[in-house]
Amino acid sequence: MPDKPFNFIEEIVENDLETNKYEGRVHTRFPPEPNGYLHIGHAKSICLNFGIAEKYEGKCNLRFDDTNPQKEGEEFVESIKEDIKWLGFDWKDRLYFASDYFEQMYEYAIQLIKKGKAYVDDLSPEEIREYRGTLTELGKKSPYRDRTVEENLVLFERMRKGEFEEGLKTLRAKIDMVHPNLNMRDPVMYRIIKKPHYRQGEKWYIYPTYDWAHCLEDSIELITHSLCTLEFADHRILYEWFLDQLGIYKPQQIEFGRLNLKYTVLSKRKLTILVQKWIVNGWDDPRMPTIAGLRRRGYTPEAIRDFVERTGVSKTDSVVEYSLLEHCIREDLNKRANRVMAVLDPVKLIIDNYPDDKVEWLNAENNPEDPNAGTRKIPFCKELFIEREDFMENPPKKFFRLAPDREVRLKHAYYVTCTDVVKDENGNITEIRCVYDPESKGGWTKDGRKVKGTLHWVSARHCLTAEVRLYDHLFTKENPGEDEDFLENINPNSLVVLNVCKVEPSLKGAKVGDKFQFLRKGYFCVDKDTTENHLVFNRIVTLKDTWAKLAKKMEQNGKG
Ligand code: ATP
Ligand code: MG
Repeated sequence: MPDKPFNFIEEIVENDLETNKYEGRVHTRFPPEPNGYLHIGHAKSICLNFGIAEKYEGKCNLRFDDTNPQKEGEEFVESIKEDIKWLGFDWKDRLYFASDYFEQMYEYAIQLIKKGKAYVDDLSPEEIREYRGTLTELGKKSPYRDRTVEENLVLFERMRKGEFEEGLKTLRAKIDMVHPNLNMRDPVMYRIIKKPHYRQGEKWYIYPTYDWAHCLEDSIELITHSLCTLEFADHRILYEWFLDQLGIYKPQQIEFGRLNLKYTVLSKRKLTILVQKWIVNGWDDPRMPTIAGLRRRGYTPEAIRDFVERTGVSKTDSVVEYSLLEHCIREDLNKRANRVMAVLDPVKLIIDNYPDDKVEWLNAENNPEDPNAGTRKIPFCKELFIEREDFMENPPKKFFRLAPDREVRLKHAYYVTCTDVVKDENGNITEIRCVYDPESKGGWTKDGRKVKGTLHWVSARHCLTAEVRLYDHLFTKENPGEDEDFLENINPNSLVVLNVCKVEPSLKGAKVGDKFQFLRKGYFCVDKDTTENHLVFNRIVTLKDTWAKLAKKMEQNGKG
């Protein structure tokens, strides 16, 4: 196989190694803010940052960008660590917290004040916005812009001590109020926030902004390639300005396109709303695009990494088909998940000519895709359950499953022919009666006659009852985030709970996280709500691969 071509970031790194720009070092970082759980978009950044480091035998730091006390917390720190490990990446001993650099950042700010490059401003946040101007309108200088260095030093120290209330003062860089790039019009470096920090407690009353903090964090850690998403492209000039003014080590910021996924939102702010309003059951709700949600649903790290790989690295944001993500988990589980039989909407099937008390333990292969998966025994007897939708009293032409006088194959078992149906007083079918061909064991007839339908089933006398949760997209629209009130696009049918599913007895003792293919029904994962007496399954994905079809169509369109 030919080597994959380099993506544009790899090209930059290759070039830097050739020119010895950083003495041969490659050092990246993944810098999450601990104000929510990681989502599939973060997985892209993780794979990229850790992946580049791995590929070039460099290092990748995990750095919590915890510079804003308002929504950050320990729960998020722990979940983020767990998710990165689960995805298969290791920061070794390189775990850092931006909040550990607060003192140093403060010292750097004093250096800028002393150089006349920063000042304490009394304008309110609204006034600052107003004075800043717009793309077509020049900014105006603050009346406090020309305070002396001494005055600025005193005021800044008093800000630190908590002597002023929130909103009354900021520290701003003194750059250029008519700069064409708005980020250069005296950006705020510190604001007063009187909230305790989850790691620093009540030590600080001022907190650095992203623009001021992030370049310092990267510089302190001697990062070589600071990878971030496109929205920071316009901030790169400021990133470099701060480091140039201080005269300290300067990494290079490189922007790449964000990953977006259809039918969902990838923004911690919006995901937080879903959790706080109980629209979903927590950050790890299996409908959430969070790593924790995908894991609980039954996604594997391999499938997620494969998905991220297939979406590529580019200089534009992308919106990816949900069906591609589903395709990736199907491909992975097709090789790995054992096949079992489970009836989601059961109806009784009675075999009138099968001996009353007889039980046969039939051979069933675990996975036709895996020669080492072996076989198991499944019980067969007179009373079975089949899927209600696999029977029709008056079938249309193309219905090849069970119907009166029709013969079908029961998977791994026998041929049966329907002879009668029993109904309750409301006309609902309560039992389907049939006869079996004792000569057709294993699903093959002596005379070679064939049938079109093969049904899955379970023994009614041996099966276990299980709860099965079926999922659909969380939103009804491809781009639910584009609307002012994205909650209006919630899909009211995103979760369907089936309470009395019947599953084969081999599933007894299945562990949380175990994954199976339920024949004809999809891939399923044992949910964490499972107890000793109550099995709960999440459907990960159905068996119908809509991505393969879509890809084919796109290929044809490309040709035509
Ligand atoms: P959100 O918009 O969900 O709040 P964020 O960018 O504020 O995301 P951070 O915790 O700051 O979240 O993100 C950590 C890293 O992950 C950043 O470098 C960010 O650029 C990257 N990242 C976040 N979302 C995506 C995405 N959808 N695609 C690729 N990278 C992303
Ligand atoms: Mg952010």
